[in-house]
Amino acid sequence: MQVTADSKHVVIIGGGISGLSTAWYLQQTRTTGLNIRYTVLEQSNRWGGKVLTEQVEGVDGVPFVVEAGPDSFLTQKPWALQLAREVGLADHLLGTNDHQRNVYVLNKGKPVVLPDGVLLIVPTKFTPFALSPLISPLGKLRMGLDLLIPPKKDDDDETLADFVRRRLGSEALDKIAEPLMSGIYNAESERQSILATFPRFRQLERDHGSLIRGMLASRRNHSSNGHVSKKRLSAFMSLQNGTQELITALVNHLDGALRLGVQVRQLAPRSDSGYTLTLNNGETLNADLVVMTTPAYTSADLVRSFAPVAANQLAAIRYVSTGTVSLAFHEADIQRPLNGFGVVIPQSEGRPINAITVSSTKFDHRAPEGYALLRVFFGGSRSPESFALDDETLLRVVQDELRTILGIEAVPLFHRIFRWHRANPQYDLDHLERVSQIEASLPEGLFVTGSAYRGVGMPDCVYQAQQTAQQVMTYLNERVIV
Ligand SMILES: Cc1cc2nc3c(=O)[nH]c(=O)nc-3n(C[C@H](O)[C@H](O)[C@H](O)COP(=O)(O)OP(=O)(O)OC[C@H]3O[C@@H](n4cnc5c(N)ncnc54)[C@H](O)[C@@H]3O)c2cc1C
Repeated sequence: MQVTADSKHVVIIGGGISGLSTAWYLQQTRTTGLNIRYTVLEQSNRWGGKVLTEQVEGVDGVPFVVEAGPDSFLTQKPWALQLAREVGLADHLLGTNDHQRNVYVLNKGKPVVLPDGVLLIVPTKFTPFALSPLISPLGKLRMGLDLLIPPKKDDDDETLADFVRRRLGSEALDKIAEPLMSGIYNAESERQSILATFPRFRQLERDHGSLIRGMLASRRNHSSNGHVSKKRLSAFMSLQNGTQELITALVNHLDGALRLGVQVRQLAPRSDSGYTLTLNNGETLNADLVVMTTPAYTSADLVRSFAPVAANQLAAIRYVSTGTVSLAFHEADIQRPLNGFGVVIPQSEGRPINAITVSSTKFDHRAPEGYALLRVFFGGSRSPESFALDDETLLRVVQDELRTILGIEAVPLFHRIFRWHRANPQYDLDHLERVSQIEASLPEGLFVTGSAYRGVGMPDCVYQAQQTAQQVMTYLNERVIV
C-alpha cells in the first residue's frame, strides 16, 4: 500500500491511557514532510477508560480522592512517570508514604506483616524472614533450597504456580506469590504465564542460578549505583488529585480530533487502501491507518470479517470482571489500624474479598485530617461470586469483612462501588506467543496496543503506545509518495 502526501489520517479507537498516549507520541514523533492528522474515538462520555478518579466532598474544602481503577504507577518502569512530566505534572507527582510501607498478608484470618526484605516473593534479609510467623519452619527451609536447585534448562513458558513451586515451594506460593504476584494481575497462578507477567524472575534464575542470589546481586548493584539518582523515587507514584489528572493533562496537550460518545461498530478494508469505520450514529470515517486500543474481544469482533486468524487469537485472550468498594471512616473508628498500606488475601483463606488498601495511609491528599479512606477489591477468579452480588449485599459483605479483619464496627461515612465488567485481561500460559501471532496476522495498516498485550499497568500501556506510534510512523514513512 502507498499513501499520498495529503492523506495520512490515523484513527485511534479507544480513549483510555493507551489510546491517548498513542495520540500523544504520534504528535511527538510526527516528522516534517508527513502531514499526519489523527482522530481518537471513545464510546463513553469521558476520557480515561479504567483511569477514573472521583473527588468526593470532604471537610473544610479538603476532598476525599477516590480511585475507581489504578491508584498509582510503578516507577521502575518509567514511562507513565515520564509522560506525567511531559504533560506538565512534575509538581503534582505524589510518592507513597514509605515510612508506613508495610504490607500485610491475611494468615488464618489475621493480618501478618510481610517480613522486611521480601521482594515480591524472594527473601533478601535473613533475620526478619526467619522470625516471621507467616511461613512455617519447613516452608522456610524449602524456600532456602532455591540456593541449590539448578535453573530451568529451556526457555519455555510455565505458569507462575509451577515456577514458584519449583524454586521456592508450595507454601511460598500459597502465602506470598499467589496473593501478591497473581493479585496484581487478578490472575489465577495455575494459569498465569510467568514470561508474560514476571519475566525478570526467570532472567534472575538464568543469570544467577537462584532467585535469592539474583535478588541479592541486584540489590547490591542498585545500592552501588544508587548515588546517581539518590533523590529516591517511591516504587509507586500517583498524582495529587488522583491518576485521572494524567488523563486531563494529556487531553489538554492533544491537538488532534478528539471525539467522545462515538462507538466504532464496524471496520472494513477499503478496496484501494486503508479502512472505513462505521460509527454508532451511522457516520462513516476513512482512515489510512487504524490503531485499536479496545479490549481484545472487541477488536476480535471488529476484524473478524476480513482477518479471521487474528480475530480467533484476539478472542482467545480471556477477561475477568473485578470491582472496588471505597469506604470513608473517622480514623477513630478503626479499632485495629494497620501500620501499612493494606492487606492482601491468599485465595486459600477463602474470603469473599481479595485485598484491602488503606488509601489514606498509602498516599497523602486522599482524605481530610482525622479521616481514613479504605479500598476493598473483589471479583476476578478469587471471588467471582462477589461480583455477582447486588450493591446492597456487596456492601454488607464488605463491611463484615472489615469488621472481622480490621475491627471496624462503624457505618462508613460514604461508600463508592465501581464494577469493571470484563475489564481485566488474563495473561495465560503462552500469552506472548499468542500476541506475536496476533501482530503477525493483522492486515497492513492495522495495529493493536493496550493492556491486553504486553503489560497491564499504566507504564506498560504508555510504553506500548510509544512503540505503536513509532511503528505507525515507520509504516507511513516507508510508504509515502512525496
Ligand atoms: C480496579 C483496577 C485497578 C488497577 N490498578 C492499577 C494500578 O494501581 N496501577 C496500574 O498501573 N494499573 C492498574 N490497573 C490497570 C490499568 O488501569 C489498565 O490496564 C489501563 O488503564 C488500561 O488502559 P487501556 O487504555 O489499555 O484500556 P481502557 O482503559 O479499557 O480503555 C479502552 C477504551 O476503549 C473504549 N472502547 C471500547 N470499545 C470501543 C469502541 N467500539 N469504540 C470506541 N471506544 C471503545 C472504552 O470505552 C475505553 O475507554 C488497574 C485496573 C483496574 C480495573
